[in-house]
Amino acid sequence: MNDAVKPMIELLIAAPRGFCAGVDRAIRIVELAIERYGAPVYVRHEIVHNKFVVDTLKAQGAIFVEELDQVPDGVPVVFSAHGVPKAVPAKAVQRGLSYLDATCPLVSKVHRQAERLVAAGRHIIFIGHAGHPEVIGTFGQVPEGDMTLVETVEDVARLTVPDPDNLAFLTQTTLSVEDTAAVLDALRARFPTIVAPHADDICYATTNRQTAVKAIAGSVDLVLVIGAPNSSNSLRLVEVAEREGTPARLIQRAAELDFDWLAGVGSLGITAGASAPEILVRELVDRLAERFDVVEREVETTRESIAFKLPRGLEAA
Ligand code: SF4
Repeated sequence: MNDAVKPMIELLIAAPRGFCAGVDRAIRIVELAIERYGAPVYVRHEIVHNKFVVDTLKAQGAIFVEELDQVPDGVPVVFSAHGVPKAVPAKAVQRGLSYLDATCPLVSKVHRQAERLVAAGRHIIFIGHAGHPEVIGTFGQVPEGDMTLVETVEDVARLTVPDPDNLAFLTQTTLSVEDTAAVLDALRARFPTIVAPHADDICYATTNRQTAVKAIAGSVDLVLVIGAPNSSNSLRLVEVAEREGTPARLIQRAAELDFDWLAGVGSLGITAGASAPEILVRELVDRLAERFDVVEREVETTRESIAFKLPRGLEAA
């Protein structure tokens, strides 16, 4: 197609978007482990929920498995950014495996809070999504029965607890800020003495990406979120855009874009989940530029400068 006849499309690109400090750190840990120990390095679970990232690390010598039993003796293993139940490092030690923990420090913080609350005799109500590895990891920090999962306001209404006056709550780091506020209101209404260690534990990256997509959603005809279908924070970005009344779609790569979606779209919003690298945003913009005269504008709602330290031992690698 001749450039002169391309229709125009305006792109509003949300900022912040894409990689957060926890994802950056987790990927770096795998790369440094391969450098230091040589390939292969085993990784329990997808290091972060993004196929592009996982495939890139596989090409460098990482092998991804779901359980420790799949890791042969004598090779290092990395635990993913989502965190693991306590039983996992314990089993690694038992087998004499050397492991590196890429759990995001903000997830580890929730783990320590859970331990402290249970040690203080509190029963924990955990707001999160059943089956997500972060939830499994956090539940695995405390004895079975000391934590109860709720996902919705309806779950709160159905709750039965051992002692209504001895409760505390914690949350998954990648929830919807608005949905969580509603669940918290319901919890506080039903259990006025529930202890809140923090307002909630939704992390800075999740909050910032939701605020950023909200800022563009009202001004565009469609929002595309780059992220994986199993990425909690990416799914929440779709919901936040839709809540603003704008259709939104999750895609993993530019190749998944169906140009039929863009019929009648003059202004397109783009963002990326915390586990999606910027290269995938550029790939999407390039694909759009094949058919459209693209006018890009970044809409920045805040600037992030957070970086997490690497685990001891790897820093000097
Ligand atoms: Fe850590 Fe938040 Fe990134 Fe998850 S989304 S890895 S909790 S900074």
